[in-house]
Amino acid sequence: MPRRRVARPTAAPLRQSPDARERKADGDWFVRPMRGSSTKDYRCPGCSQLIRRGLPHVVAWPVEKALLSEAAIDERRHWHTTCWARKH
Ligand SMILES: [Zn+2]
Repeated sequence: MPRRRVARPTAAPLRQSPDARERKADGDWFVRPMRGSSTKDYRCPGCSQLIRRGLPHVVAWPVEKALLSEAAIDERRHWHTTCWARKH
């Protein structure tokens, strides 16, 4: 008997925020994919290598601090997409 594909309704967003939220070992993070339009290089905390300008990557910042302070955005970090995916 063939498996039936059940059409899933599109999940409604839980929040208005366009930023994805991910749980890691050290807490929850907001994650925003960047297209690499930046004008500067960043150092990835995952591998300590540079993220070249123009390279698509992700920016992550801690949810908890974001709730406490607007300044949490200053704690954002730029990660290689693959390094972020590997982070626990
Ligand atoms: Zn990296």
